Parts: sequence; C-alpha cells; structure tokens
Amino acid sequence: MFSLEKLTRKNIWNLAPYSCARNEFSGTTATVFLDANENPYGIDNLNRYPDPLQLEVKKLIEKVKGIPTAYTFLGNGSDEAIDLMYRCFCEPKEDNVVAIEPTYGMYKVCADINDVEYRPVLLDENYQITADKLLAACDAHTKVIWICSPNNPTGNDINRDEIVKVLTSFEGIVVVDEAYSDFSAQRPLRFELPRYPNLVVLNTLSKAWASAAIRLGMAFASPAIIDILNKVKYPYNVNLLTQQQAMKILSDPDEVDRWVQLIMQERTRMMQAFSQLSICEKVYPTNANFFLTKVTDAQRIYDYLVSQGIIVRNRTRVQLCNNCLRITIGTRNENSELIGALRQYK
Ligand SMILES: *Cc1c(COP(=O)(O)O)cnc(C)c1O
Repeated sequence: MFSLEKLTRKNIWNLAPYSCARNEFSGTTATVFLDANENPYGIDNLNRYPDPLQLEVKKLIEKVKGIPTAYTFLGNGSDEAIDLMYRCFCEPKEDNVVAIEPTYGMYKVCADINDVEYRPVLLDENYQITADKLLAACDAHTKVIWICSPNNPTGNDINRDEIVKVLTSFEGIVVVDEAYSDFSAQRPLRFELPRYPNLVVLNTLSKAWASAAIRLGMAFASPAIIDILNKVKYPYNVNLLTQQQAMKILSDPDEVDRWVQLIMQERTRMMQAFSQLSICEKVYPTNANFFLTKVTDAQRIYDYLVSQGIIVRNRTRVQLCNNCLRITIGTRNENSELIGALRQYK
C-alpha cells in the first residue's frame, strides 16, 4: 500500500511552514497592503512580493497542459523540484534512490548534495530498461525511482509498459521527467496522474517553450504530494518577472507548436545528413530535440568543432555512450553550419 506519511521524512511531515504575509488573507477585495514591510513606492509592482503559489500562472498551465492547479508545483527550474524530492522524502545517510543510467546528471548531483545513496541501473544496448531490473535494485529504504522519458542524453522514449509496471509495483515515488515530451509522439504520462498516487511528472519551460533563461519548472502530482513540496520550497521561489514572462509564452501555444514542428523537420534532415558523413558510425533514434550519434573519434571531432566556433555535447565518457556526441537541433542555418564544418573535417 502507498502511504505518503511513511515515505515522507518525519521532520517534513511535521513541519509547520513559514506563513508569509500574502498567504494569510484570502479573497481579492483588499486594496491597501500594509502587511509585508514593502516600500509603497515602486515601478511595475516590483516593490511587492509576488504570489507565493503562482495561481495565475498555474491557471494558464491548466489551460495549456490540461493539469488542474491543485496538481501543479512550480519551481525555479525543474532543478528545484528535483532537489525537493530529496529534501522531502529522503533521509540523508539512510534512504536511497534508484535511477536509469545514463540519464540527466542533476538526479545524482542532488543525491550527493543531500547525502542520499544513488543507485544507477544500466540501460540495455537499445537504451531501454525493464521494470524488473529497476525493482531489483530497490530495498526497504528506496524512496524514489527516477525515469527520464524521452531520456537525456540517449533521446529515446522509455518503454511505457515498463514504466507503468514500475508505477504499479513500487510503493515509493516514481518521478518521470518529461522535459522533452513536446518532441515525442507518445501520449504524456502527466495525463495518467489520477491513476497513480505515487507518480510525479516533471515538465519545464526550458526546452520546447523557449524560456530557459526565466527558470520555470513544473512538477505534476497528487495534491497530497504537491502540498508537501509547497510546504518546503522557499516562500517566493518564482519571482514576478518570471511569472509574467511565463504567462506571456503560455498565452501563445500555437507559436510554440510551430517551433516544435520546425525543430522536428530539422531533426529529420540532420539525422539523414549525419548518417551520410564518413565520421558517423551510428545515429540513434530520438524522440527529443537532440540526437545522439556515435562517431569515429568524439574527442577529436569535438575539439575541431570548438575551433570552428561550434559547440556540441561530448558524451564519450558517459556509460554506453563511448565516442558519442549529443547534437541539439538548432535553426536551419546553425544546423547547416555544423554539417558544413563536419564535411570539411579531416
Ligand atoms: C534540460 C532538462 C531539464 C530542465 O531543467 P530546468 O531546470 O527546468 O531548466 C529537466 N530535465 C531534463 C532531463 C533535462 O534535460
């Protein structure tokens, strides 16, 4: 049986959160705010503390992404939500987490910072995993399983049936990071939240939504889990400028759709072009806005590209990614520059 109380660190379960001035009243009829020691003079409302629970942004996210506001946590990038999973659920030096390997580096960095054991489970040669392999790495102290789908740096969707099996068999929390789901044809798992009380889905404005600079990440989960994350976060973790800019981009999902379509067209063109380069040994299938490619000599090609002013990601030291480069899809011109440079490589 899934018991959130059993999973949550005792000090967090019992925590009385900081009560900020703007939380204490409800209703929107007030016009005089003498409660927060702000300067009454200022420009563009920047003298005022922002909404600690970002309700207007969450309402727009509900409209665009179809997730009710009570199921939504917003943070300073997904990285804040990742860190909070440890701070809320994992007792340092005692609990552990399990994750697919290779994957996004922040899950391990945050585990190390929080002094929580990190148990990587190697993907197979197709960059897939079975539920049984992940579950075999768990014990009574495993609080979280990390799955990234589409996965970074491999680019592929992780088999949905296996994720569902993990969700139904594991009594801890399963985080599925869907940072790249806008580029995948698979139905996002965030729509299945009502079925799984132990599911946390991560989303971000940093990739398809073209807003990496403003730092806005989302965690979608049951209201019970969201309440715990909200209790532990800094009271004003998403600043007003970010909230305003997020509302702007979320108000134009059609423009974002057009960008995603363009990027996916370019992805097809680039993978085709790569497969014809003499330095290219393999192009891996992808469901993200990047792809992984095995080349003859990743380090030397990487250094050459740097000398040409072109930066890609060298993943050669990552497990199962020997001699692999990760290529982000850019504009048509940027992509053509990369292909042109690689055709000149000797
Ligand atoms: C880029 C990326 C993110 C985004 O992190 P932010 O902190 O929201 O910018 C999250 N997860 C994965 C797997 C990523 O590759």
